[in-house]
Amino acid sequence: MPRLTSFPAFFRVSGRDVLVVGSGAAAAAKTRLLAETDARIVVVAAHPEEELAADVARTGATLKRETFSPAHLSGATLVFAATEDEAQDRAIADAARAARIPVNVVDRPELCDFTTPAIVNRAPLAVAIGTEGAAPVLARHVRARIEALLAPEVGALASLAESLRETVARLVPAGEARRRFWARLFDGPVAARALAGDAAGARSLAMREIAAEPDLAGFVWLVGAGPGSVDLLTLRAQRVLQEADVIVHDALVPSEVIAMGRRDAERIFVGKRKGHHEATQSEIEALLVREARAGRRVVRLKSGDPMIFGRAGEEMAALKAAGVAYEVVPGVTAALAAASSARVPLTLRRVASSLVFATGHDLDGRTLPDWGGLALSGATVAVYMGRTVAGLVAGRLLEAGLSPDTPAIAVENAERADERVFAGRLRDLAGLAERDDVDGPALILIGPSLAEADLADAIPFAEAAGAAVAAA
Ligand code: SAH
Repeated sequence: MPRLTSFPAFFRVSGRDVLVVGSGAAAAAKTRLLAETDARIVVVAAHPEEELAADVARTGATLKRETFSPAHLSGATLVFAATEDEAQDRAIADAARAARIPVNVVDRPELCDFTTPAIVNRAPLAVAIGTEGAAPVLARHVRARIEALLAPEVGALASLAESLRETVARLVPAGEARRRFWARLFDGPVAARALAGDAAGARSLAMREIAAEPDLAGFVWLVGAGPGSVDLLTLRAQRVLQEADVIVHDALVPSEVIAMGRRDAERIFVGKRKGHHEATQSEIEALLVREARAGRRVVRLKSGDPMIFGRAGEEMAALKAAGVAYEVVPGVTAALAAASSARVPLTLRRVASSLVFATGHDLDGRTLPDWGGLALSGATVAVYMGRTVAGLVAGRLLEAGLSPDTPAIAVENAERADERVFAGRLRDLAGLAERDDVDGPALILIGPSLAEADLADAIPFAEAAGAAVAAA
C-alpha cells in the first residue's frame, strides 16, 4: 500500500487562539475556514484589505492592526502565514517553529508543518479530504461528492449517538448485539427521524430500542450488483453490503463491488471458475439458510437484477420454507445496461411497444420459443445467455417468419472496461457464436426499435475472413 506523507488528525482548537498573519485574500480565506470551528481567531494585519476586514467582522475574529512580531505567537495553538510575500511568510514560519507552534504557509507546502484539508462540516461529524498537496482541485471535487452524500442533519444524528453512548454501554451487551444496535440506529427509523429534523422523536425511539431485546436473528438480502461498473450499484445495495457479515457471490459480480463490504465480512464464492468446484443451486440455498440460522446477516450478490435469470425464485422459496427473513434489492439488469451502452431505445413510439426478457438456453425442442410470437408482433427481445446459441435463436425466429433484415445488436461485457458492441441484421447474428474472440457475458437485442441506432462504431457480427486474419 502506498504510504501517506502526512498523518490525518483533528486538532483541538475550541476556545484557543489561532493566529492568521496577512492582509489579503489568502488571510481572508483562512479566516473563513477557521470560522467553521470555535477557535479564537486572531488576525494580524497592519493594513487589512476590504475582504479581510469584512470576514473579520462577520466571523467575530480579533483584528490586530500591527506588523507581525514573534510576540504575537504567544499563546497561539496554530499559526497561518498568509502574507502572500515569500520572505515575510518564511520569517513567520521560522518564528513559529522556534516557538514550537505548528505552522501552515499558504501555497508553500514545503514550509508547512500541517496542511489544511477540504472540509465537509456536519458538526460534530467532519470529513477532511487531503491530497498531500498533489491535487487540491481533486480534493474539492471529492468534497462536493461527499457533501451531496451527507444530509445536513447527519450532525444531529452524531450528536444523538454521543448522548446515548453511556446508556448503550450500560444496557446493550457488548459485541454483535451492540454493533447491530448502532448499525440499526444509523440506518433505521431513528436515523430517519433525526435526519428529518425530529430530534426529540429520534431520541425517544432510540431509548425504546435500547430497552428492547437485542435483534440477533439472521437475515438474507438478495442483492442485484448491476452489470459490472461500481457506480451502477444502488445506494441501497451499497448500504446493505456494509451490514453484511457474509457476502455470497458468483462469477459475474465485479471484485470492486465485493470489496465494498465490511473488511471483516466473510466472502464466499459460489460461481463457476476454472479449477473451482462449482456450488450447485441446492448447495447455495443450504448455505444461505445455514448462515442465516447461525444469526448472520447475509448478502447474496448477483449480477444485474436478482429477479431476472438470477434464480431468485428458488432462493426465496428455500428461505421462506426455512423461516428465514429476506429482502430483495433490485439492480440494473444486463438488457438495460446493453441498451444504454449501445444507445438504442428498447421501446419506440409506434414501432416497439413491448419488451421481452428471454433466454437462449431453453431452445432444445423444435418449436418456436414461447417468446417468438412476441418478436413477430414487433416486441424488442433481450436475449440472455444467448451468445453460444445465437445461431439457434436467429434460426428459430427466421423460420417463424421474422424478417432477416430485423436489426440486432449484441453487447459483450456491458458497462465494463472491456465492453464491445456488435451490430448487424438478424440474418448475420449466427456469426456471433462463431467468433472465437468473444468470451465475456453478452446480451443480444433484436427488434425494429434498434433501427434508429447510431452504430457506426459497432463491430459486425461476422467479420470478413480476410479482415479477421488481418486483425489477428
Ligand atoms: N441477473 C442477471 C442475468 C444473469 S444470467 C441480470 O439481470 O443481468 C447471465 C447472462 O446475463 C449472461 O449470459 C449475459 O447474457 C447477461 N449479462 C450479465 N452481465 C452482463 C454484462 N455485463 N454484459 C452483457 N451481458 C451480461
